[in-house]
Amino acid sequence: MRIPRAISDLTNQFERLPGIGPKTAQRLTFYLLHVPQNVLDEFSKAVAELKRGTVQCSVCQNVAEVDPCPICADSGRDDSVLMVVEHPLDVFVVERAGVFGGVYHVLHGLISPLENIGPDELFIKELLERLKNDKIREIVLGLNPTMEGEATALYLKNKINELRAMNHELKITRLGQGMPTGGDIQYADESTLKQAMEGRRGY
Ligand SMILES: [Zn+2]
Repeated sequence: MRIPRAISDLTNQFERLPGIGPKTAQRLTFYLLHVPQNVLDEFSKAVAELKRGTVQCSVCQNVAEVDPCPICADSGRDDSVLMVVEHPLDVFVVERAGVFGGVYHVLHGLISPLENIGPDELFIKELLERLKNDKIREIVLGLNPTMEGEATALYLKNKINELRAMNHELKITRLGQGMPTGGDIQYADESTLKQAMEGRRGY
């Protein structure tokens, strides 16, 4: 007997997700067969609306419901300090911890030669463009201390040094000790983030 097409179609879709292998994809699909139709309809509606209901902020590249995002639009924030992060999720984590009052820039990834991700695949050009604005005095590199995070930090440092000729006051810092080595900002608790923020050092 052949597996019904509706089942193999959904299994294939699950397999495209990160961290999901063929077995898990199959398990998820068969699990959903037991879920009431109205719940499945809500699920597929949420998937369909995911991108329709969000925009990428044209200033910081974060994901939001409006462009510019509420953080970029907030005149009460300190726009002389800019934190560079990998993911939109990092912004939500740092905001939730309430340890940073500046603005952000989301790269949407890190430089990774192994995965063929170079600077042009990330929103680095947009970052450098923003830095030409002389309001920004400090760039906080909020990148994870992984190999990719280090490679990206070094690349940014070199690029930003070129801009220093125009803006002498521009300084680069990195989140201080306290972040677990190889650890992820996304999993850091509030006090760790606070410590890392207070202990940021010149880079
Ligand atoms: Zn924004």
